[in-house]
Amino acid sequence: MWIYVTGRTFLERLPHDGDLYRAIENAFTAADIKTGVFNAIGAVKRATISFYDQRDHCYVNRYVDQPAEILCCTGNISESDGKIFVHAHITLSLSDSTVIGGHLNEGTVIFAGELAGFEMIGKQARREFDNVTGLKLWRP
Ligand code: ZN
Repeated sequence: MWIYVTGRTFLERLPHDGDLYRAIENAFTAADIKTGVFNAIGAVKRATISFYDQRDHCYVNRYVDQPAEILCCTGNISESDGKIFVHAHITLSLSDSTVIGGHLNEGTVIFAGELAGFEMIGKQARREFDNVTGLKLWRP
């Protein structure tokens, strides 16, 4: 466990037709925050999410080719290979009120969105490859 103090916080209106994953990355880059957490709500025109296959150690993409509400998009910011790394999950509500969700990828187009970001002051969170899971996890 690492203990942090909450630093700056920000709100950002996400750009219509922007890419949700990149918009989150851009907001934290612009604020020069390299360790943090966030949440976002809003709506998307379409989405690209994925599910991690724990046996085969690979992400399986799923495409949501319809408008959806962002019920919750949450995640964290750390560093991987010297760059800001966004790890985000998203829960979407479709027009029939069914829910789908997963790991957020590029290819999710914003209709409207509101992002709340929180800087965490303390040890720089960094990722490294983990042989057991096949994922880039936080370095102990
Ligand atoms: Zn994930």
